Amino acid sequence: MGCRERAAKSELLRIVAIEGICAPDPSGTLPGRGAYVHPALVCLDLALRRRAFPRALRVQGPLDTAELRRNVEAAETVAQQATP
Ligand SMILES: [Zn+2]
Repeated sequence: MGCRERAAKSELLRIVAIEGICAPDPSGTLPGRGAYVHPALVCLDLALRRRAFPRALRVQGPLDTAELRRNVEAAETVAQQATP
């Protein structure tokens, strides 16, 4: 959804909207419509810039994505530290 690169769903992070907040759903178990991005800031920021989330999640009005962005940022930092 962000960079538009093809990827398997297992490589992507599922995101759902809960009461106006974009929430990550790594286990893929939350109900509702899901949007998929790579768990990477570049991909997430592209999606945010394109306002892709309200469209993909069929949500009217603003979506809070600050927490989601922090979450992806933290996950990315962990992934980078895990790489030798
Ligand atoms: Zn991507």
